[in-house]
Amino acid sequence: MATAKPAKSTKNARYIYHFGGGKSDGDASMKALLGGKGANLGEMARRGFNVPPGFTITTEVCTYYYANKRTYPKGLFEKDAVDAIRKLEKAQGKGFGDRRNPLLVSVRSGARDSMPGMMDTILNLGLNDETVEGLKAKTKNGRFAYDSYRRFVQMYGDVVMGVQKRHENEHEPFDEVLDAVKEEAGVHEDTDLSEDNLKEVIKRFRALIKERTGKAFPNDPYDQLRGAVGAVFGSWMNDRAVIYRDKYRIPHEWGTAVNVQAMVFGNMGDTSGTGVAFTRNPANGANEFYGEYLANAQGEDVVAGVRTPLKIQDMAKDAIFGDIYKQLLKVRAKLEKEFGDVQDFEFTIEEQTLYMLQTRHGKRTAQAYVKIAHDMVREKLMTPEHAVKSGDPQALDQLLAPIFDSTDEKAAEKDSYLTIGLPAGPGAASGIVAFTAAKAEQIAASGQKAVLCRIETSPEDLKGMIASEGILTSRGGVSSHAALVARQMGKVCVAGAGDLAIDYAKGTLTSNGRTLREGDFIAINGTTGKVYGRKVKTSDSELKQVLVAKTMKPQDSELFRAYDFVMKLADKYRTLGVRTNADQPDQAENAIAFGAEGIGLCRTEHMFFEGDRIDSVREMILFAEDYAKFKSDSADAKGDDAKLASLKGTHADAIEHFTGALEKLLPMQQKDFEGLFTAMAGRPVTIRLLDPPLHEFLPQSKDQKDDLAKKLGVSYERVEALGHSLHEFNPMLGHRGCRLGIVYPEITEMQCRAIFRAALAVAKKTGKKVVPEVMIPLVGYDIELNQQLEIVHRVAKEEQDRAKTKLGYLVGTMIEIPRAAVTADEIAKEAQFFSFGTNDLTQTTLGMSRDDSGKFLPHYQKVGIVKANPFATIDTRGVGKLMKMAIEGGKATRPDIKLGICGEHGGDPTTIEFCHQIGLSYVSCSPFRVPVARLAAAQAALRAQSAANKAAKPAAAKAKAAKPAKKLRAAAAR
Ligand code: ADP
Ligand code: MG
Ligand code: MG
Repeated sequence: MATAKPAKSTKNARYIYHFGGGKSDGDASMKALLGGKGANLGEMARRGFNVPPGFTITTEVCTYYYANKRTYPKGLFEKDAVDAIRKLEKAQGKGFGDRRNPLLVSVRSGARDSMPGMMDTILNLGLNDETVEGLKAKTKNGRFAYDSYRRFVQMYGDVVMGVQKRHENEHEPFDEVLDAVKEEAGVHEDTDLSEDNLKEVIKRFRALIKERTGKAFPNDPYDQLRGAVGAVFGSWMNDRAVIYRDKYRIPHEWGTAVNVQAMVFGNMGDTSGTGVAFTRNPANGANEFYGEYLANAQGEDVVAGVRTPLKIQDMAKDAIFGDIYKQLLKVRAKLEKEFGDVQDFEFTIEEQTLYMLQTRHGKRTAQAYVKIAHDMVREKLMTPEHAVKSGDPQALDQLLAPIFDSTDEKAAEKDSYLTIGLPAGPGAASGIVAFTAAKAEQIAASGQKAVLCRIETSPEDLKGMIASEGILTSRGGVSSHAALVARQMGKVCVAGAGDLAIDYAKGTLTSNGRTLREGDFIAINGTTGKVYGRKVKTSDSELKQVLVAKTMKPQDSELFRAYDFVMKLADKYRTLGVRTNADQPDQAENAIAFGAEGIGLCRTEHMFFEGDRIDSVREMILFAEDYAKFKSDSADAKGDDAKLASLKGTHADAIEHFTGALEKLLPMQQKDFEGLFTAMAGRPVTIRLLDPPLHEFLPQSKDQKDDLAKKLGVSYERVEALGHSLHEFNPMLGHRGCRLGIVYPEITEMQCRAIFRAALAVAKKTGKKVVPEVMIPLVGYDIELNQQLEIVHRVAKEEQDRAKTKLGYLVGTMIEIPRAAVTADEIAKEAQFFSFGTNDLTQTTLGMSRDDSGKFLPHYQKVGIVKANPFATIDTRGVGKLMKMAIEGGKATRPDIKLGICGEHGGDPTTIEFCHQIGLSYVSCSPFRVPVARLAAAQAALRAQSAANKAAKPAAAKAKAAKPAKKLRAAAAR
């Protein structure tokens, strides 16, 4: 695919691609260059859909524009665009600016990934006071001609000349003018305005533009074109487009293409119209035609909610549009077949002729994604690869989001029912009513949940929508902005609840005789569309009910079956293993239910907090230092029996407490490990030995400290003093990790003994192989590892001898200190596996404390120093480079070394792709991220595969060229 580089010279560069008349220069594979809209217009044209002709100005021009102080490549407007318009004039038999038979065009934005509603489009370009008369004469329809002109002046004035509302509470200035004329004329609908009314509107529009900008509205169509193209390129960097791209991680470098297309008119009268439709329901995935239309309307009317659109199914019975409906059903089937996925498309009917204006893969909720993938793969309409590739791994979280508790919802239905609207984003949301986006942000910032309640939403509300738990609108249908954003962001949404009266001025929301105000609670069910005037309790998602609580049978859940189908498909493609970070048997069981293949990180210290065993841990810590001193003094006094005996005497307390505490901990830890091994039933389990600094285990409050002192029979002061002396500061690079085990080897020994005893016991009991993987944390020197492993191997031998049974086990280390990454070849001599502890590796590589990074990282992201939060998505160029280095070193010493990652990054799709690329064996993430990781790993494998195929293609072509005889034979055989 072509990548957009700033074009230095315009020589040979091709900036314009045509489509229409059953042909096209571009196709669906050229989205990077032509944008999604342009590429698919080309694809539709060549596949025989009825597409009005036009041309696409490439994204490279946009890149050039921003790389060259907002100027265009030489000759673009002087030659290339003029030639393209000429060609269009010929195809349409009309002239651009022709007084008698004017060619009108739309100027449409179109980025590589669709960014619905984010950028601007201008319709009916080419109209002025003269051509409008030509249009009127030609169509014998003055009302239509002036309606089109009115729309053009409005869009151009807004988008190109910047006449917009100046603050949030102001009305749209053009709408205000329009409403005034409507009132003066005594009409309600735009469609009721007469030609003369419209002329008046246009006059006032022009005056408004002049007043606000000091500039006149341009009459020359080429001037209009230049202005419109500039506005589209300019809109790439408008605030809402930038916010949108940040949210969806679309690179700002991509740029948009511009499509210039001959107009077709849905506003020509009652036999014309316009609509949008999905080939299937994008909220829940049901195989039903889903969409809306409006008669005698143009473009945005359906979406903008100016008039209430009709359901697409209503067309079937319509006297005028019945036949169009039949055509649409054919289009629906053909689109799915040709594009291999659910399509979201726009159409316009001009005097009973159906035109296609856009198609794209429909954005869908996670629920719809799995349902559609399941159905369409089985119907052989979608390839399994596409089914895996087209999901957003991150969005699978939506399937785990809670739903309303059915008992409480039934009660709410009785005592607080408000209304029902369109179920536009599945799930359950309770929160505080917010009437503005700003209020929603404010509520969210205060740590509470907000439900944004608006008559309708617009792109300016985006930040508030992101901050809200759910979105409720009283106007707008399936293609309204609210529904669209909900689908995309996985927000709970009920749209177009028409019975709801929202009064911004009074700050009230009224329905079913109940009135709510800002600050009151509201609950919306995005799966059914029902709305309640209070909080409603939530319960587990269907998936959790099947997999975790087991209160629902798999065969009773259609959602589960679809999910399971997609996950199994993903497993076929992925090569990366997926493990989980779990410390307890129940966590491990959940993770297995979600598809984990082993434990990549068990943090043993988490077990220390179970029940009252923390007392023994604290006892151990309290006497550890004394005990270590006793040992070191004893070593110095070697041979001096009297001295040794006296040392024993003076340290009797420490010896008793320290070793006593370890003895108490041993069986408890052993039991924990037995639980874990049993739950994992033969799957690998990586156990990390004690890691955090000891002060984390000490009591915090005075009462707790007092308690502990009494329990252990020591003074309060002693507990207090120890807390002080052990306390470490961020980012805690002190006495932790293997450093603890080096100074207090008895702790390592106790933990290892617990692990091996547990493994032997479970193997004996279940007859299954148990292979523990003992992992040493925070290693920087190979000698640290070696000293710890001496203990591991010794204890392993002792326990095997004791049980008279052999036990397989692995030993390895975390790579979380740059020194370990750099000296990985030395470390790999003793380590059979590496697990990248990327949380600490990121902290230590960047020299940045994760806990304190919130103070500056958001700013760093804003000013572009970092693209993503390095604690969420791996910093590939820095931390990632160290990882590669460690892999190289490790493999040089031990070619079959096992490699994994267990940092928080292990559940992040972008990081997972990187892990695939650098050849890790597995990623490990929290139990509920396992589905996300499975899908992301499959996508990484598929992407790597297609990149490899692409790289192999030129080579294959060369090979072919070298054997002309074979090529001829093949051709002859065809
Ligand atoms: P967006 O990317 O925001 O969807 P579009 O470029 O698709 O914007 O255009 C906005 C509206 O104008 C759509 O409803 C589209 O169908 C309509 N439209 C665009 N071009 C034409 C055209 N040539 N003739 C008729 N309607 C058009
Ligand atoms: Mg569109
Ligand atoms: Mg660590």
